Amino acid sequence: MAGFTKVMKGTPFTQKTFPCKSCGASLVFSADDVALKCEYCGAINYLYPPRLPIYEQDLDKALARIETSPRYDLQAPREIKCPVCAATFTLEPHTRSTRCPYCNAPIVTNLDIFMPLAPESLLPFKIDQKKAKEIFRKWVGSLWFAPSGLEKYTRSDARFEGIYLPYWTFDADTTTHFQGYRGDTYYERVSRRVFIDGRERIVEEMEPRIEWTPVQGEVQRHFDDILIGATKTLPRKLADSLQPWDLENLIPYDDKYLSGFESETYSVALDDGFDYAKEYMAFVVREAVRARIGGDHQKISYMQIYHDNKSFKYILLPVWTAHFQYKKREYRFAINARTGTIKGERPYSSWKIFFALLFALILLGTLFFMNEHPEAVGDFLDNVRVLRISF
Ligand SMILES: [Zn+2]
Ligand SMILES: [Zn+2]
Repeated sequence: MAGFTKVMKGTPFTQKTFPCKSCGASLVFSADDVALKCEYCGAINYLYPPRLPIYEQDLDKALARIETSPRYDLQAPREIKCPVCAATFTLEPHTRSTRCPYCNAPIVTNLDIFMPLAPESLLPFKIDQKKAKEIFRKWVGSLWFAPSGLEKYTRSDARFEGIYLPYWTFDADTTTHFQGYRGDTYYERVSRRVFIDGRERIVEEMEPRIEWTPVQGEVQRHFDDILIGATKTLPRKLADSLQPWDLENLIPYDDKYLSGFESETYSVALDDGFDYAKEYMAFVVREAVRARIGGDHQKISYMQIYHDNKSFKYILLPVWTAHFQYKKREYRFAINARTGTIKGERPYSSWKIFFALLFALILLGTLFFMNEHPEAVGDFLDNVRVLRISF
């Protein structure tokens, strides 16, 4: 049950900014400089992430701890006071960092201390907003059958938001016991009675048959860093389609990297996240079992997967997202802010598709006609006096 505990009651919800040493204005993380940069005077404060290994956490232990840990009511409205302009405003339930809606000051909150788990590592933004917009423009320009003017339209309308999205990564060793059948194709000579030119003949043919042999065994497989989106802000399909990520470059979590960006705490629970990972593992294991059974065909009648040495990481990954409205419908897209990979929803022009189909049909019809009536084509070409061709 959600609710505040004694510890929670005593712990204030706080927020901070990172003031510039030169002028006192707010510093934000700059992807270009890989540093905190003053939005007002341009002063740069370099960041030196500690060269610490990123540890995996034991999954079972964490799940047991979450089970007994107090739960913070995420749905309770959180009022915060902007440290710069003193205006009060309410945060969305999962928001860890944002900008003040009144003075645009970058604000990072201490939301994570109210959660059973806090992020341990992140990948900083590598692609800035300007570059993200460029990627978006190119993408829109490259879309087949997009409505005319969409490019111009999206240029003004799409609002870009840089956000650190929460993800789970899971590791596990799997042992799978299976039973099934291997099917080997062989050919059998069969005699068939046929009529050729009205006369009966006996023809010999080779016909395929399958011989099934029962097989059972064990398959072992290690999984490393299965990535599961832990946000509900973005559809799972979109959040998971931004792979691959350069996870080898993860650095220890530091809230300075969040300054100026939106960021969220997880809204897909750890155990639910692992269930998604299990689905993925089962899919991969099934293919491995098929390969082990061998032969030309495989049937799996029984399969039991055991997961050992389960571990996880809770990480934040940088994404540019935006949505634009086109003819009263919302279209969303997202950009991997490390690699520039863009994925999204897009409108189609039904007129462009209609004319493309019409053109294809006319072309097909013409080719068919030319094939069936070569003389007509010849006559036609004679008439227009282009070339004299005999078919
Ligand atoms: Zn400054
Ligand atoms: Zn403010």
